[in-house]
Amino acid sequence: MKEECGVVGVYSFDGKDVAPLIFYSMYSLQHRGQESCGITIINDKLETKKGMGLVTDVFDFGKLTALTGSFGMGHVRYSTCGESMLENAAPFVVSHSQGYLAIGHNGNIANSLELKSSLEEQGEVFVSTTDTEVIAHLIVRGLVKTGDMVSSIQDAMRRLNGSYSLAIATGDSIIGVRDPFGIKPLSLGKIDNTYIIASESVAFDSVNAELIRDVEPGEIIVIDKEGLHSYKGLKKANTAHCMFEYVYFSRPDSVLDGKLVYSVRERIGEIMAEDDPVDVDFVMAVPDSAIPFALGYAKKRGLPYREGLIKNRYVGRTFILPKQTARELAVRVKLNPLIANVKGKRVVLFDDSIVRGTTSARLIQILKDAGAKEVHMRIGSPPIISPCFLGIDMPTKEELIASVKDIEKVREKLGSDSLKYLSIEGLQRAIGKDENQLCLGCLTENYPVPTDQREQEKLVKYL
Ligand code: SF4
Repeated sequence: MKEECGVVGVYSFDGKDVAPLIFYSMYSLQHRGQESCGITIINDKLETKKGMGLVTDVFDFGKLTALTGSFGMGHVRYSTCGESMLENAAPFVVSHSQGYLAIGHNGNIANSLELKSSLEEQGEVFVSTTDTEVIAHLIVRGLVKTGDMVSSIQDAMRRLNGSYSLAIATGDSIIGVRDPFGIKPLSLGKIDNTYIIASESVAFDSVNAELIRDVEPGEIIVIDKEGLHSYKGLKKANTAHCMFEYVYFSRPDSVLDGKLVYSVRERIGEIMAEDDPVDVDFVMAVPDSAIPFALGYAKKRGLPYREGLIKNRYVGRTFILPKQTARELAVRVKLNPLIANVKGKRVVLFDDSIVRGTTSARLIQILKDAGAKEVHMRIGSPPIISPCFLGIDMPTKEELIASVKDIEKVREKLGSDSLKYLSIEGLQRAIGKDENQLCLGCLTENYPVPTDQREQEKLVKYL
């Protein structure tokens, strides 16, 4: 599973060049998207540099120093919809009769095909296949009519159905927008006289800035020469923060909606230990994301935590090999068993989720081949039974193992000695939010926004 994107917006009241701040913020959000990235800086005119690849592939010292200006925005992208090509890389820039705007988006618009057809019927022309362009057209149409940016964004929010955290740069401002349910994260930070808007608070740590607060669900934040202004965009009675941001996607050192992600993951492990008397020699994790679960579990049960799989840190997320045997090799290249630790031992193995089940099955086999006597699999999320239509790249329902098999059948497929998932109730307890505050769509099929069949097909097409 992969996150779609990360956004950053920076405004300096001291007139300092912000490109280095944007670069380092994007660097710390690299886990949210590795296919392409870009920076837009405003300095009398708008200047955008973008390219395919990681932040360090696209930007070097020369490119960064050439981008001078005291406000701008950045974006890292992974495509869940819209192909992987330079035309789809963000920031997406639009010129209009009142000026121009650059926009970056994290999320997925569930009614984008319908909106796009209606805009095309009204004469709009699209140059990319992204939802971001649909959002840009909606805002610009309002702007051309009224000349008012905030009311144009409010109008666009009334028509958009889905998840969106936006960073927007105009000729005189930086704007942050979060969807009415707060599905995707967005935070506000500050260093000296510079404000930063970013997908995760870890971006602030990377530049020594301080987290001020989360951007509220449905809030529009405008930063211009007069200061920071907050406007109500669209409010819903409940929120629907993506539970997977806590379980897997966000960095453990980020604070999301008031919760440190690392603490939530440790708490998940503690909760899973409450009712689990399995007799083992030690607890281990699939590195890195499952480590806090395993530490919380081990602490609660008074068991040792040890490493049993060593990760090759130089194998990137883009390491994809097509054939079955090559994929098996890829798992071995990424994760090697520490035979001295696992041989003859009974272990609890933590992972963050099971999608198709193939990777978990291979890891269990690797541990058994290394001499592990028993492998008891523990999963730090409830079973995923349905795809995500809100910005996370997932396989189809038929490919999700928990949607087609019960827990005992999944255990048989994995080859583990036992298998337990976190319960939905345990997940809510660990995050400290209930079903009226979280999106649990991929666990329950109750999504916070209606999902249209054509939109589902659009997502599947690009998986
Ligand atoms: S459906 Fe699942 S992955 Fe998608 S936003 Fe909701 S909780 Fe997150």
